[in-house]
Amino acid sequence: MKKVKVIGGGLAGPEAALQAAAQGCEVALYEMRPHRSTEAHLTADFAELVCSNSLKSESENSAPWLLKQEMRLAGSVLLQQADASAVPAGHALAVDRELFSQRVAERIAAEPRITVHREEVTTLDENDPETLTILATGPLTSPALTAELTRLTGSGHLAFYDSISPIVDASSIDMEKVYLAARWDKGTADYINCPFTREEYERFLAALTTAERVPPKAWEQIPEAGSEVPEAAGQPQYFEGCLPIEEIARRGPETLRFGPMKPAGLTNPRTGRWPYAVVQLRQENLRADSYNIVGFQNHLKYGEQARVFRLIPGLENARFLRYGQIHRNTYINAPSLLTETLQLRDHPSILIAGQLSGVEGYTESIASGLLAGRYAAALARGLQPVPAPRLSANGSLTHYITHAEAKRFQPANITFDLIPPLEEELRRKIRDKKERHRLQCDRALEAWRQWLAVG
Ligand SMILES: Cc1cc2nc3c(=O)[nH]c(=O)nc-3n(C[C@H](O)[C@H](O)[C@H](O)COP(=O)(O)OP(=O)(O)OC[C@H]3O[C@@H](n4cnc5c(N)ncnc54)[C@H](O)[C@@H]3O)c2cc1C
Repeated sequence: MKKVKVIGGGLAGPEAALQAAAQGCEVALYEMRPHRSTEAHLTADFAELVCSNSLKSESENSAPWLLKQEMRLAGSVLLQQADASAVPAGHALAVDRELFSQRVAERIAAEPRITVHREEVTTLDENDPETLTILATGPLTSPALTAELTRLTGSGHLAFYDSISPIVDASSIDMEKVYLAARWDKGTADYINCPFTREEYERFLAALTTAERVPPKAWEQIPEAGSEVPEAAGQPQYFEGCLPIEEIARRGPETLRFGPMKPAGLTNPRTGRWPYAVVQLRQENLRADSYNIVGFQNHLKYGEQARVFRLIPGLENARFLRYGQIHRNTYINAPSLLTETLQLRDHPSILIAGQLSGVEGYTESIASGLLAGRYAAALARGLQPVPAPRLSANGSLTHYITHAEAKRFQPANITFDLIPPLEEELRRKIRDKKERHRLQCDRALEAWRQWLAVG
């Protein structure tokens, strides 16, 4: 039987190691802390929760609940430890973080098949015939290993920042002021266009360039390979491809009009002319009732985003479902690199788990570690692993990261948007959203149980 090497002792790594060991594999678990730490970790503990202590909702028939239920059924060791370390948190599962880490460490220590190595891994051997590697080094993967991963995946397949545009509730857009159009009338008119007069543009620009930014953390100023932006005093370095909107605006009064607010080819049917500038709203892939402000990733404080973006014609009363953000997050372009069993397409002995694979959040990372551990164990025995079922929350999350549009790929939490809807006939019959979700959960758990029974 092949050996399993797990790199990363955060959330995905320990779960993967414990799953593979439980299935009889010899596992080497590598964690670089305490010799080398990340910008966010404070301890040398396994399973450190770097920020909040919440593993999200436990409300029955919610998507995060479904994911956790599936993990419980599959014997997720980290979720067992989370349940055993729970603190009162209403409908959420929140944990005593020290107790949680301590319990995970105890489980690892008690597993004779796991050997722990406290060292930084800087190279990957994709041709080692005796070893399967699970890479679970997270959003703050060390620079040397990041370089190694770039070698394996080719340049352009790794992202180093999450750059998120704000999302507004469709029902809060003033449809009297905006218009649907495709640029140069090419394709279908999928975009909502918010037209600016010159005065409106100037007022917007003045507000945008003077709005208060999120103070950069020291580690956000670390220069990344490939960055060409000269460092502005006190501001992080960004990639040219995903500059924050306020940074583009700062470069000159016309840069937005020739960039993300370009009006060319967007004739306003009310005037028969192109407006002075345009902001485009794109329907979210997965949410038909919400719109993304295209190209408006930014690093402004949330209150400032609401104030400034409500100056966009048509968004005066916008309800923001999500604000824009930019933060350091290393993740692969999973749709172009990963198989449904979390293996690199070109190097199938290497599996990617956790946030590095493009899932987002503590629970999602543990879930992906659970899958990677099981898949690696099957591969170690010379079997072809069966991917998690599409109808389940676990399968839906994997389906999203492996089938999303590669060009616009962004990490995701589990939501009902990722889980297949009910059949047309049932949807027509059942109007109540909660009831629909209940049926989706029942269906998911059924498919998951069947998969566990054969897996
Ligand atoms: C600042 C910050 C705040 C966050 N807040 C939240 C939050 O509140 N809620 C939430 O759900 N998610 C949050 N996240 C996302 C969070 O990181 C993930 O949800 C989760 O920790 C990812 O699990 P992981 O196992 O993939 O990575 P991690 O938990 O980061 O584990 C990766 C491990 O790999 C180790 N490592 C890295 N490189 C090497 C190497 N070369 N050799 C050996 N070991 C290595 C690291 O030391 C680390 O222990 C946050 C992320 C960051 C960066």
